[in-house]
Amino acid sequence: MTRIKLIAGNWKMNNTFSAATQLVSDITAGLPNPLSAEVWIAAPFVYVHTLAENCNNTPIRIGAQDISTHVSGAFTGEISGEMLQSVGAYFVLVGHSERRSYFGETDEIIASKINAALSNNLIAVYCCGETQEERETGNHFDIIKTQLQTGLFNFSELALNNIVIAYEPVWAIGTGLTASPEQAQEMHAFIRTQILNKFGATAADKMRILYGGSLKPGNALELLSQPDIDGGLIGGASLVAADFNHIIHTASTAI
Ligand code: PEP
Repeated sequence: MTRIKLIAGNWKMNNTFSAATQLVSDITAGLPNPLSAEVWIAAPFVYVHTLAENCNNTPIRIGAQDISTHVSGAFTGEISGEMLQSVGAYFVLVGHSERRSYFGETDEIIASKINAALSNNLIAVYCCGETQEERETGNHFDIIKTQLQTGLFNFSELALNNIVIAYEPVWAIGTGLTASPEQAQEMHAFIRTQILNKFGATAADKMRILYGGSLKPGNALELLSQPDIDGGLIGGASLVAADFNHIIHTASTAI
């Protein structure tokens, strides 16, 4: 089956409100026409509502970068799935490596966040990836397998329709280092095989698996042309309209 390529920006904690609205309008103005890829942006919580409204008549979907495991109540500072849904969020990132390493998120917490997303009709972009040390010691396949098992395997095949996987080797995020197309393809194929073994061929074939880690205009084509790479989760390059649009154009024309 042909999986539509998906380019998702992760803005992290960057940009003032006016810079954020300007960036979205610049990206919108530079979209290819026709557009044969999906374009999502994970914005800071406080901008989600306005950006989602601004993007109403555009192909861009706005999402958030995190979600509470809790439904509602006395959890100061938390943002629930229901809140995100009510302001127009379409998706949410779950388990980004920065949340795993700086905020102590475990695979169990992350599974509970996926559950919170799905319960509120939000698509969960489940991030997984190994550290440099884990790759150097040859443990990267085991690490990803465990992350998939504890993070994803308790969900049903039906739930998988609302989950996108983002493979993001931690050593490549924000470092300028990129997995080679061969390294990325090898891991994406491995991830798809894990989905196949657990959920069957249809689920494996449908699952979109994004690559993240210093994806930029200069390496987009070789990465996005790999058979099991269905798009990208993009940090730094999503903050520059020309770079993000270049990647979107590449995805829109890559087979
Ligand atoms: C990310 O934060 O998900 C990411 C991939 O960042 P960068 O593109 O900057 O490496």
